[in-house]
Amino acid sequence: MTLASKTAVITGSTSGIGLAIARALAREGANVMLNGFGRPEDIETERGGIEREFGVRALHSAADMTRPDQIAGMIAEAQAAFGSVDILINNAGVQFVSPVEDFPLEKWDQIIAINLSAAFHAIRAAVPGMKSRGWGRIISTASAHSKVASPFKSAYVTAKHGIDGLTKTVALELATHGVTVNCISPGYVWTPLVENQIPETMKARGLTREQVINDVLLQAQPTKQFVTPEEVAAFVVFLCSDAAKQITGANLSMDGGWTAG
Ligand code: NAD
Repeated sequence: MTLASKTAVITGSTSGIGLAIARALAREGANVMLNGFGRPEDIETERGGIEREFGVRALHSAADMTRPDQIAGMIAEAQAAFGSVDILINNAGVQFVSPVEDFPLEKWDQIIAINLSAAFHAIRAAVPGMKSRGWGRIISTASAHSKVASPFKSAYVTAKHGIDGLTKTVALELATHGVTVNCISPGYVWTPLVENQIPETMKARGLTREQVINDVLLQAQPTKQFVTPEEVAAFVVFLCSDAAKQITGANLSMDGGWTAG
């Protein structure tokens, strides 16, 4: 157990990548603060399951990542309950697809708030404690879209490119404080979000399930395979280890070769 006595806050961890990261950090012995939306009974099942399976403490914060006051409150709550926030995972994210001239203003504001500004607010709240203890890990889930664009995703691509800049800036500020700051940039990850799009896309485009997966979703991904949430989580665990202490300010691709081309 490499992370026993550490505490991790993982935003957007009631589902998908964030949940896999929370479980992987708990498996290594970290207490975890979950965050995100969902049915209360489902969240409680995950929270209680983590405590029983891994013998750590797990809490859930319903903080809305569009609300700076609630983000600061979530970090304060974790610090009060566990004594510290040593690992911060900025993972909450949403998507909306539209031509730029029709892009709804409220969707732009929401995506910039959740996918970019929330990371700033959480980092701002967590950094003083990390600096005072001389140890910390800040890891954001960016995306291949932090490096390359796709049409009709103006807000998402802008927010994810912003995460890249925020990561580099904060990494330089904290370089001599034992705190590393990185982002992971996955390609398509097999999450409920992606899986749920398949039947709709089959219908809309008149394609088979296999065609949707290979010709639509995996078209950009040379390996023709999805990244799994567990692979992203294993990368996070490595970045939290001492062996990774010289990795900082990096935007680390995990995209089956997408951004190599
Ligand atoms: P998901 O929909 O399964 O999970 C998103 C999480 O964010 C959920 O827990 C949800 O409750 C939470 N969330 C949404 N709005 C919130 C808000 N206002 N406040 C608090 N929590 C909120 O999605 P996922 O695929 O696991 O994505 C997680 C992250 O990974 C996102 O930042 C996404 O951009 C990024 N990502 C996903 C993929 C992919 O293909 N799935 C690829 C690259 C990057």
